Amino acid sequence: MRTDGSTTERHRIAVLGAGYAGASAAGYLARHLHPGDVEITVVNAEPDFVERIRLHQVAAGRQLRRHTLAEMFAGTGIRLRVARVVAVDAWQRTVTVADGEHTEAIGYDTLLYTLGSTIADLGVPGVGEHAFHVAGRPAALRLRRRLDELGAGGTVLVVGGNLTAIETATEIAESRPGLRVTLVTSGELGGWLGPKGRRHLLRAFDRFGIAVHEHTTIGRVEPTGAVAADGSTFASDATVWAAGFAVHPIAAASGLAVGDDGRIAVDRMMRSVSHPQVYAAGDSACAIDGHGRPLPMSCASAGFTRMQATAAIIGDLTGRRIPETSLSYLGNCIGLGDRDAIFQAVDGDARSRAWSLRGRPAARFKAFVLRGTVWNMRHPTYGLPTRRRRLAAEPHRAPAAVAG
Ligand SMILES: Cc1cc2nc3c(=O)[nH]c(=O)nc-3n(C[C@H](O)[C@H](O)[C@H](O)COP(=O)(O)OP(=O)(O)OC[C@H]3O[C@@H](n4cnc5c(N)ncnc54)[C@H](O)[C@@H]3O)c2cc1C
Repeated sequence: MRTDGSTTERHRIAVLGAGYAGASAAGYLARHLHPGDVEITVVNAEPDFVERIRLHQVAAGRQLRRHTLAEMFAGTGIRLRVARVVAVDAWQRTVTVADGEHTEAIGYDTLLYTLGSTIADLGVPGVGEHAFHVAGRPAALRLRRRLDELGAGGTVLVVGGNLTAIETATEIAESRPGLRVTLVTSGELGGWLGPKGRRHLLRAFDRFGIAVHEHTTIGRVEPTGAVAADGSTFASDATVWAAGFAVHPIAAASGLAVGDDGRIAVDRMMRSVSHPQVYAAGDSACAIDGHGRPLPMSCASAGFTRMQATAAIIGDLTGRRIPETSLSYLGNCIGLGDRDAIFQAVDGDARSRAWSLRGRPAARFKAFVLRGTVWNMRHPTYGLPTRRRRLAAEPHRAPAAVAG
């Protein structure tokens, strides 16, 4: 009998979060480990896999197809627990999950922490109370309801100058042409792009009629707008905070070693530097690339880190050699509404190259990447021999998915 009361002899793997990193990691582990040897439990707050990189489109009014995790994991042997992770005790190897009034402790032998991130308010007063954001589905739907309330001439202020802010401002401007959209950034809009990419970006903003204020830092958000540190004011009916992401405080409270930004400190294998039974991937992991820099929070990083973490977990359990998987970016793809985009190529130092793909071809490429990502998430057992698929689906080996 284990400390949490379970009697299974199988190695218990708990995957926290079923986003880009967690859902694909769970599927990959189910595909490569024998269901008689491991019990994989995935805990996720929502019953669906949420295409987070399209939440700005959800906010602007697009309807996306639903991807229920129970369906995605059907036949994999993965046990799904729809509940909120409220605490992790890395010393006792337990995770506390809450589902309404009910709380439960889940024990693990190996933990993969992939709870993603939420917005970083950067300590700016009023963000939590008055700003909207697109970092999670409930928040994106709240913004959509607000945009629906605004009539022609309504004003939207997007704060931030990076990918999420750019995609959000252009998507809202394109799908709601009656609204007046303004973007405020403390830096230079698209300053990191190559010259052609940046020119293309600025032309797109012109075409959409989005007003841009660079080198302007917002110091306070109010119900009817925002105030910059230099005292200038921006009236807005909806202020959208897109100035960066921060990890949930659960990681830091768990006893795991974390970096200054709260991300879990991991080695090259994505293993926690303080607790070797714990791995982290995606936005929650502070993974260091080959040049000593932390990987940015992005879907691509979630892919890289989940590949490395799952390879290491499989290596630990099977004794197989653990390969070093790549952590190198080829480029960044930025959507500018439905029909325009920029794919900016980067070099090994993550600096923009002169080359970028722009316009329709880049938009088609982005759409292809989005479709491919979802296809992969929806087919976690792709490549698994039929006999193993059947084995994984046997009820005595694999408890059915439970919705909380
Ligand atoms: C609008 C928007 C556009 C973006 N566009 C791009 C882009 O074009 N390209 C790119 O590379 N990146 C983009 N990103 C960033 C990208 O979405 C993230 O880096 C990526 O989702 C990280 O993957 P993850 O698996 O770590 O986290 P997530 O995908 O966020 O998954 C985390 C999962 O954990 C669950 N969870 C969180 N807290 C709890 C809890 N307490 N209990 C239980 N479950 C919990 C969540 O419900 C979610 O399912 C974008 C982000 C946003 C918001």
